[in-house]
Amino acid sequence: MIKRSTDHNMDPPQSMNWHSLTHAEVRQALHAEMDGLTDAEVKQRIVRYGPNRLTPPKRRGTLLRLLMQFHNILLYVMLGAAVITAFLGHWVDTGVLLVAVVINVVIGFIQEGKAEAALDAIRAMLSPHATVIRNGSRREIEAAELVPGDIVALASGDRVPADLRLISVKELRVEEAALTGESLPSEKSTETVSADAPLGDRYGMAYSGTLVVYGQAIGMVVATGGTTELGKINQMLTGIQSLSTPLLRQIDRFGRVLALAIIGMSAATFVLGTLWRDHTPAEMFMMVVALAASAIPEGLPAIMTVTLALGVQRMARRNAIIRHLPAVETLGSVTVICSDKTGTLTRNEMTVQRILCAGHVFDVGGTGYVPLGDFSIDGRIIDPDHYTALSMAIRSGVLCNDARLREEDGMWRVEGDPTEGALLVAGGKAGFSQHAGDTAWHRIDSIPFESQHRFMATHHRDGDGESWIFVKGAPERILDMCSSQLNHTGEHPLDVDYWRRMATDTAAQGLRLLALACKRAAPVDGQLAFSDVEGGYMLLALVGIIDPPREEAIHAVSECHHAGIRVKMITGDHAETARAIGAQLAIGVGKPTITGAEIAMMDDAVLRRVAMEVDVFARASPEHKLRLVQALQDDGQVVAMTGDGVNDAPALKCADVGVAMGMKGTEAAKEAADMVLADDNFATIATAVREGRAVYDNLKKFILFMLPTNGGEAMVVIVAILFELTLPLTPAQVLWINMVTSSTLGLALAFEPAEHGIMSRRPRPPGEALLSGFFVWRVLMVSVLMMTGALGLFLWELSDGTSVNTARTMAVNAVVVAEMFYLVNSRYILAPVTNWEGVTGNRYVLLAIAACLPLQIAYTHAPVMQGIFDSTSLSPLEWGRVLGAGLLVFCGAELEKFVIRRTRLASHLVSA
Ligand code: ATP
Repeated sequence: MIKRSTDHNMDPPQSMNWHSLTHAEVRQALHAEMDGLTDAEVKQRIVRYGPNRLTPPKRRGTLLRLLMQFHNILLYVMLGAAVITAFLGHWVDTGVLLVAVVINVVIGFIQEGKAEAALDAIRAMLSPHATVIRNGSRREIEAAELVPGDIVALASGDRVPADLRLISVKELRVEEAALTGESLPSEKSTETVSADAPLGDRYGMAYSGTLVVYGQAIGMVVATGGTTELGKINQMLTGIQSLSTPLLRQIDRFGRVLALAIIGMSAATFVLGTLWRDHTPAEMFMMVVALAASAIPEGLPAIMTVTLALGVQRMARRNAIIRHLPAVETLGSVTVICSDKTGTLTRNEMTVQRILCAGHVFDVGGTGYVPLGDFSIDGRIIDPDHYTALSMAIRSGVLCNDARLREEDGMWRVEGDPTEGALLVAGGKAGFSQHAGDTAWHRIDSIPFESQHRFMATHHRDGDGESWIFVKGAPERILDMCSSQLNHTGEHPLDVDYWRRMATDTAAQGLRLLALACKRAAPVDGQLAFSDVEGGYMLLALVGIIDPPREEAIHAVSECHHAGIRVKMITGDHAETARAIGAQLAIGVGKPTITGAEIAMMDDAVLRRVAMEVDVFARASPEHKLRLVQALQDDGQVVAMTGDGVNDAPALKCADVGVAMGMKGTEAAKEAADMVLADDNFATIATAVREGRAVYDNLKKFILFMLPTNGGEAMVVIVAILFELTLPLTPAQVLWINMVTSSTLGLALAFEPAEHGIMSRRPRPPGEALLSGFFVWRVLMVSVLMMTGALGLFLWELSDGTSVNTARTMAVNAVVVAEMFYLVNSRYILAPVTNWEGVTGNRYVLLAIAACLPLQIAYTHAPVMQGIFDSTSLSPLEWGRVLGAGLLVFCGAELEKFVIRRTRLASHLVSA
């Protein structure tokens, strides 16, 4: 028995056994009607029930996150050393060590926060949506805004946004693995079941978090947020994973091995220094701690993560939302992009341009969605009412239609499928309004359009109470259902050849084709089923719809070709239309086009060859996409594949980079994808590839900056010990350099924009080792240059009679200045930076240098610092010499790039 209550003291909805209640009881309990809640009711309910959101798992608190930063081998070593130095009474060293520890912790903490914030912003962009009926009209809202009592429409590919009691279903199949673990979809109905039925048997319910794999339904929200079944087991659905990628893990491992090697070398230096060179153990201990502290790349994993997060953020700003971080790396090595056509390569702004009836070809005038335009035959304007087949075709296009055409502030907009919107606009031009049609031709039932079966059907009753079934869809599909055709004299037997010829000719002009047909009959079992669309239809017309390519897609395809990336178009459209549009985009020109049916006949070996040769695949279904991805991968290609439907999920998962459409894509496709295009635009994929390459470059650039700067500094000291020279840097000074430069200068490279010409390179071979022979060479060369500059200057000053303290001050400045210069070199791996763009192109580089300069000036000239570090003021001439040491590194690095460019060019010319 349902407790009747006012809205004010209504029972919390979660306490009900909704699956055992009838619709009337559910409506009564929730005080809701089929035309939806009003805005005022929604407001009240959202206050009472809260947003429809699961509480995210608790994050680590700020303090814990801060403390976690100390959990790092290097910091343990430094803290241990600080304690020992304190015992030894080396207070300056203790102080510097502690400050260095704090700086490392704070920088790590800020970097982690920045990376997390970047990901949070992206998570928010992926928030799910729901279609609700409120105030009697349909609208799309954020799923978080749903309240109990809302009426929700479900379609295939949707994640069910809240717990729903189903009110009407059309072949609804829902995969409930998220809740029940059962991966086979269960068939839904609207029936009640007994109150104690287990979750999997509650056919009249659709539960939050489960996936609609087929069909449509309308349901009433009965539970939201934490009170849903999903909320009760408190399981968050898959979101963005943690900040790690194979490359980052590889670098992490490398960092650890390097740290161990450095500790080993430090121990050797200690032994060498004390036993062989007679330094005191206390002095040598401090030195090796300082050396280890500067050489171990403690900032490496953090900066890598920030570089990646910044890249992901940059991509998101340009509409490419990364869901799965390793995709950022993979994007840089993509060799083939397989793209849908409609809406991705084309604008998805459809306009009916031609209607072909038996005996007449009508041109339709007007542009855009404004329903104004003339119908003409060979340039002669006609009245559509005088042509029976034409007016019947237009009517069927308007009736067999799920879209809406609306005027708002003088602007005409289509809600729903643009192909259907185009038919509504054509209807408007002929004077058929959707609403007039609704009353005179009442729709009783429908089979919605699904790419798999390529048609849609609706059942109507006309003003005289007669039943009609209208179908529209791909011409081949509809022709199979027809046995007759309508022309101005009435019904005649179907002339299949005529229609096939017309279809091919029209498609060859790049027009998208639909066929329209009807039958005066009622569904056999009362409900419209597939058996009702098998035959006996009368063909009315073929409709040619124009959907021009996107300008930016044409440009992006050519950019991809330059970048050594093949672009393939996989579309559900007619082969001729696909070929013509492909030609406009420079895809598949001069190559054959093959269809899904042909793919189905090929074995894997043949398909592997064909998949590489052919660029346009037409009338392809999701299973063909999957086979194509596999065939291309077998051929060694790295494949990005786009998709939008629920059935595209396997292909998206299989592809190296699965790309889902953000606007027209289903939740299922988005969840299976690595990347979501917020604007559904092909050009965004090309942008993402460019950014992916840039991120990889920046990771490389940072390592190429950090290793030799750490190495050079260490080398200065080790060489001095080996050759029994006066130490050019004291332990405290080594720590100072580390404090000023490590993690600050290099971070600027994470902001480096993509290099010019980044899209003229070939894709990076997948699995290419980051640390190549070239890397080792560059690291060694720059280390030696830095060592030569700093140690050379120090020795030269000493031999000139300068005091040790002044010579050391110059050595410290030489190391820091050399790092600043080399930071500019590092902006481009091989290209010269000796130009305006090279020097000023990244303001973070300039800012980082500008931040370090005053520190060095203070170090040199401030009396306090002189007291701590034994530094001395330098004359302008001495500063000039310091600058010279920096320039040595700068010029050396640029010269090396020049030689490499020259030799590469030469070998390229020879091989050409
Ligand atoms: P792509 O895969 O590039 O997005 P597409 O949008 O052309 O291609 P589908 O949406 O699968 O592919 O459409 C395939 C065919 O189905 C179209 O060529 C058209 O003939 C027909 N079709 C498209 N939309 C509808 C619709 N709403 N109702 C009936 N038939 C349709």
